[in-house]
Amino acid sequence: MPKLVTVAVPCPLRRGFDYLWPESLGRDAEIGLRVSIPFGRQQLVGVVIALDVICDIPSNKLKGVLKVLEEQPSLPADLVQLGRWAAEYYHHPVGDCFAQMLPVVLRKASPPKERPAQYWQLSTNWEQLPQPASRAHQQISLLAVIRQAGQLSRRQIKDLGYSNAVLNALINGRYLQQADTPVAPIIDANNTELALNDEQQQAVLAVSNSLGQFARYLLDGVTGSGKTEVYLRSIAECLARGEQVLTLIPEIGLTPQTLERFESRFPGQVRALHSGLSDGERYRSWQDISSGRARILLGTRSAVFTPFQKLGLVIVDEEHDASYKQQEGWRYSARDIAVKRAADHNCPVVLGSATPSLDSLHNVGQDRYQLLELRERAGRASKPDIRLLDIRQQNLDEGLSKTLLDAAHDTLQAGNQVLIFLNRRGFSPLLQCHGCGWIANCQACDAKMTAHFGRRELRCHHCDAREALPNICPQCHNSQLIFQGPGTERLELSLKRHFPEVDVIRIDRDTTSAKGSMQSLVDGIRDGRPSILVGTQMLAKGHHFPDVTLVGIIDIDGGLFSADFRAPERSGQLLVQVAGRAGRADKPGRVYIQTHCPDHPALLALVSEGYQPFAQQLLAERQLLNLPPVSFSAVIRADASSLRCAEDFLAAIRAELAPGDNHWSIVGPLPAPMTRKAGRFRAALILQAERRPILHRQLATACRTGDQLPKHKSLRWSVDVDPIDLF
Ligand code: ADP
Ligand code: ZN
Ligand code: ZN
Repeated sequence: MPKLVTVAVPCPLRRGFDYLWPESLGRDAEIGLRVSIPFGRQQLVGVVIALDVICDIPSNKLKGVLKVLEEQPSLPADLVQLGRWAAEYYHHPVGDCFAQMLPVVLRKASPPKERPAQYWQLSTNWEQLPQPASRAHQQISLLAVIRQAGQLSRRQIKDLGYSNAVLNALINGRYLQQADTPVAPIIDANNTELALNDEQQQAVLAVSNSLGQFARYLLDGVTGSGKTEVYLRSIAECLARGEQVLTLIPEIGLTPQTLERFESRFPGQVRALHSGLSDGERYRSWQDISSGRARILLGTRSAVFTPFQKLGLVIVDEEHDASYKQQEGWRYSARDIAVKRAADHNCPVVLGSATPSLDSLHNVGQDRYQLLELRERAGRASKPDIRLLDIRQQNLDEGLSKTLLDAAHDTLQAGNQVLIFLNRRGFSPLLQCHGCGWIANCQACDAKMTAHFGRRELRCHHCDAREALPNICPQCHNSQLIFQGPGTERLELSLKRHFPEVDVIRIDRDTTSAKGSMQSLVDGIRDGRPSILVGTQMLAKGHHFPDVTLVGIIDIDGGLFSADFRAPERSGQLLVQVAGRAGRADKPGRVYIQTHCPDHPALLALVSEGYQPFAQQLLAERQLLNLPPVSFSAVIRADASSLRCAEDFLAAIRAELAPGDNHWSIVGPLPAPMTRKAGRFRAALILQAERRPILHRQLATACRTGDQLPKHKSLRWSVDVDPIDLF
């Protein structure tokens, strides 16, 4: 019998492919091996995902694997299992899943050119050698660091601030030798002065007591309540058992400060994995974790697929963050997959947030997750005072109410800083002619162009179309063009006019696109001079601004009245996150929220009672309406050069699905609220079921149907399981 294997091949088909495993390869097949295979007229890199396959195609019709690309499988069996599970769960082509699970350098057949880094450890007889001269402080200090870390590479040693000369002196003095295999670090869990408060202690105790078994925790605590400290202590406990840790962070939360904080607590043990690194750097982190050379991975979404030698703890910080959900192609949720990995490895997982998702709160309500609360701000910072400003019938100065401007004035006078939040960049979201009412619309979208004053441009924020800002109305040639409503750029100018004596710093995608610019803006704010920060949701994450004592929120009404039932949850989270940026122990903060709906019940609950009661109220509404997370949903989206074409395709899928009943419902095809985007017309089918298996059965039928249907050449379609947006 010839040997057959199944290979995940990077192609858009929802299946693996069977190949012969010829004797000439000179070795046995193994799960997780990267192989080169013929596919059509191409040669592709695939991953072996099943052995001893039985297949009804006669073997003389099957092609053979051409080459094995590595000695040891890149992906261990647990990740191969995970990839197969995830492909099925998200109804996504398995080959694409596996390609995405691999680091970029391993997606090609040519071996990575990376030279393995050289690591140094203490030589076996270093203690017998005469100690370095007492004036060689640097050498003595580096010896101590290497002793604690177990081993360090030249690069890491340099990053820690030691010169090459210092390292070379230790090497020449034979204090150090090359480390060929990973060396265990010395873990000092109490390598910090901080005494944990009671709630922190309880949280750390709960997590450490469940090391070695699967347990799910939701760590709920406002910004500054000491969640990170809880992570660090739990990590220390896990490392002391000789195990590794996966820590996920939203992209924007992975600041140099976070990395430094981890690195200084666990020298030499931390590796980062995020989009700011080169493919080579990412591969090196991946290797160090999968070989066990490093113990802690701190990474963004795709880091969840990194192989570990011995995974002992999983942490997902800011678990509510939308960036954990990939929004194109394979629409996986890294948070959910992180929980799955903890289950696979029999270890605890901690989801942390100041504003937990309704999903996680629901899981707490169902006793699936254990709730750990940190109610006090660590270091005794007080809670900010939050107030709604009713702006109905008020005269606004470019969006700013008099009360807010007065409060800003007082704050700056007192030597403090002000943060103004508006989730809309540009100068103005709408340009209109006073003469004839013409509006600057995007040619390709059902959307208005945003005016960018500094660049003299109109831009569409949905398709990135750009035009010169007109001086006269293109329709009636009137020169009276008016800018309706503010964006951050306009607020910046207006605040500069009101407060000419202080710095006004704008933080949004337009001012932070250059590498490092975010950091230098943030550094400018953190030096503490009286100043005003104005910006979008980029302000809400990652950075803490201790000298900000007034937060002004310009406009959140939009989020309360969106067509998507998830919008209020997201607005509430954003609001709390922004408010949480401000204040510290000796400087309590104030938060003013401008609104046209001061009586909105959810908003009132949020302001007067806090995030938890607000979220419980939203959850009760979802329960009543049987919406996720109480039920399970998926969206099938289609877009094409005409709406008809997209809708017909979805209708044909719907025709093959079970009609709705008490346990299952289907809505659509519905056109998206903004139907035309970048010249394409968009529609969706919304599927919802009481139980997951029902949903997945219907999705399987939908995918089979969709794959087989004849399609207009402009048609594109996709499946989104557990969507976070409808369109
Ligand atoms: P979070 O992750 O919830 O925002 P952090 O862990 O970053 O909170 O803690 C906020 C600040 O409080 C940090 O500067 C941290 O060093 C400090 N901190 C944390 N725990 C304590 C504690 N038990 N005692 C004193 N300070 C603490
Ligand atoms: Zn006009
Ligand atoms: Zn557009």
